[in-house]
Amino acid sequence: MSEPARQRPRRILAKILLILVLLIAIGGGFWFGVIPQRWIPLSPVSLDARPSIFVDARLAMLRFDRDLCRSVLKPPHIDASPVPDQTTGANCGWTNAVKFTHVGGARIGVEPLTCEMAAALALWVEHEVQPLAREMYGQEVVRLGDMGTYDCRNIVGNPFWKGVRSQHASANAIDISGFTLAGGRTITLLKDWKRKGKDSIFLRELHRRSCRYFRVALSPDFNAAHANHFHFDRGLMWACR
Ligand SMILES: [Zn+2]
Repeated sequence: MSEPARQRPRRILAKILLILVLLIAIGGGFWFGVIPQRWIPLSPVSLDARPSIFVDARLAMLRFDRDLCRSVLKPPHIDASPVPDQTTGANCGWTNAVKFTHVGGARIGVEPLTCEMAAALALWVEHEVQPLAREMYGQEVVRLGDMGTYDCRNIVGNPFWKGVRSQHASANAIDISGFTLAGGRTITLLKDWKRKGKDSIFLRELHRRSCRYFRVALSPDFNAAHANHFHFDRGLMWACR
């Protein structure tokens, strides 16, 4: 075999490796939210309609982009206002966070929550929770049970992750305990998740639909530490359980 013919497979292999490395770098850029929106041929996420494609990448664009955040988080979908960045301890604190009292037509008191998470929550509440509540109960959800966003602590409930900071430590997570309907009745994770019937179906369907917006969406089925709430975050892991 001549020298160039012997080298051809190596050159092809080198090109394949280069393409793989490039794809991984681009994927990582999207995943970490570090590619500026002006470089991406994707429109930013809008709260006006249920996003159809590339939801994760379009939410990740908001991570470090304050101007984009301000233009996306708008009334009547959410009454968000910026919260100054703060470092509160070792690997604790937040950047590009907001506070709000209403999201998707439901009351909730949140401060602080990262912009990216606030957008994901608004999309889920307005385009999944409310339509399902109207369909199943003929009424809207007027209040979300909020068990907190920011907490400078490690992951709890699993010895494998002992010593690892929770996404709550960077206000990039929220725990939701239940949903109050316009008629006044409250459906809770603790009481209704395991009970057979309409309320359980409602909660399980909401969890299934949440996985489009949050990278980690944990239900009471995940472990005992989540018996009374949904945990949602947009960290770097992926889990829908
Ligand atoms: Zn949580």
